[in-house]
Amino acid sequence: MKKNFNDLYSSNLTALTQSFQEACADKDFKKFVYDLNVKEELLEKYTSNLQDAFIEYCNCKNCNGISSCKNIEKGYKYTPIPRERTIDFSYDACKIMNKIIKDNKYKDNLNVFDLNEEIKNASFKDVFKDDKARVPIIKYFKDFIDEYNNNKHPKGLYLHGSFGSGKTYLIASLFNELAKKNIKSTLVYFPDFLVTLKSSFQTDYAEKFNYIKKTPLLLIDDIGAENCSNWSRDEVLGPILQYRMENNLPTFFTSNLTIDELEKSFYITQTGVDKIKAGRIIERIKYLTLQKELISKDRRIK
Ligand code: ADP
Ligand code: MG
Repeated sequence: MKKNFNDLYSSNLTALTQSFQEACADKDFKKFVYDLNVKEELLEKYTSNLQDAFIEYCNCKNCNGISSCKNIEKGYKYTPIPRERTIDFSYDACKIMNKIIKDNKYKDNLNVFDLNEEIKNASFKDVFKDDKARVPIIKYFKDFIDEYNNNKHPKGLYLHGSFGSGKTYLIASLFNELAKKNIKSTLVYFPDFLVTLKSSFQTDYAEKFNYIKKTPLLLIDDIGAENCSNWSRDEVLGPILQYRMENNLPTFFTSNLTIDELEKSFYITQTGVDKIKAGRIIERIKYLTLQKELISKDRRIK
């Protein structure tokens, strides 16, 4: 015999009640759900979600630290939020995760273009101090921070040297230190940034360009590794450096090339040789920076 709608509805209700009652055989679960202070019929509708939330609640009660967190999203707890006619569920950060988020908030002051976001974790305390090559650079960083904090417009760094020696990491660690004092900075992987910028002619070109121009601290990473063109040299680099000189905005560079080699790399573009324009760029870099070398073993993980 066919069941009518009312029969179906009431048999579903009974099934819901039944599975809820079964779940409540666990006294701790029962206490967990009744503490939500909502009507039983509402609880019955969400038995399965409440059971999931209860598992995570228990995991948190037996917490042994974030690395051994058993919840589906490490550091987050599936949590019921009682509403008038429903129960919503959300993944809420636990106490430990909230502290981690708060302690890492300063990293938002670092903006990264075309570089791996991992670089935001570079920190002073992890800089290899055993390596003598780093000592003068660390000394320079200390002076930089003092002067910057005293509004003295210190010069940036032109840091050149061997591949993988830690140039980018070092500058990022300086920016991170200043980020803790809420100073904003930007790291741009220059060869890729040029490609990104070029492809944004129809969209947010001006926005990107102005952002880089005006960021309080700028790292132009791996300069000299780009495909130099009239556009990249005279329309991008030139005006950015000019603006930063006029406004005393500290600007950093890393490169595999010495400044003289960099100058030569700017001579030739697709339309010919222009030593004067190359020279103008180099003058600006020299004005903006102190030059230092970092030769060290390749730290990249193979
Ligand atoms: P470069 O810019 O000179 O080519 P990187 O800064 O990219 O070199 O460093 C090479 C690798 O070594 C990167 O993976 C970087 O994360 C790592 N590295 C460099 N310095 C440190 C450091 N002090 N602590 C931890 N990792 C570092
Ligand atoms: Mg680098």
